[in-house]
Amino acid sequence: MMSDKKEERIAKLKKEQALALQELEYLRESLRYEVDLDLDEADPYVTEREMAMGVIVDLERKLKAINYALSQLESGTYGICERCGQPIDPARLEVIPETTLCIKCKTIVEREGRNNQKIYYNL
Ligand SMILES: [Zn+2]
Repeated sequence: MMSDKKEERIAKLKKEQALALQELEYLRESLRYEVDLDLDEADPYVTEREMAMGVIVDLERKLKAINYALSQLESGTYGICERCGQPIDPARLEVIPETTLCIKCKTIVEREGRNNQKIYYNL
């Protein structure tokens, strides 16, 4: 049963990975397109572009987390919190299969801020 679950998780993560890559590609493509349009005029797309770039950063982070989770599945350490080493709540893993932090650590890390701390995969 354990390995069924593992296969299921890997399949789910790979699907997520494919979707994220697809979205990333689309966003990058649309950004490139807009840049070509009009560089001299005040750019009305600037906010949209910034938003798209923010999404890209999030997606890249998510992909890293997915890759990490996949490697954890391979090495049998999946579901262990990256920060405190305790098992992550299975219900949380169901919802966010690529997470590498338990809810407690996630909360702590978020409170500490994203910029000046060690970067965890699933921030
Ligand atoms: Zn933890």
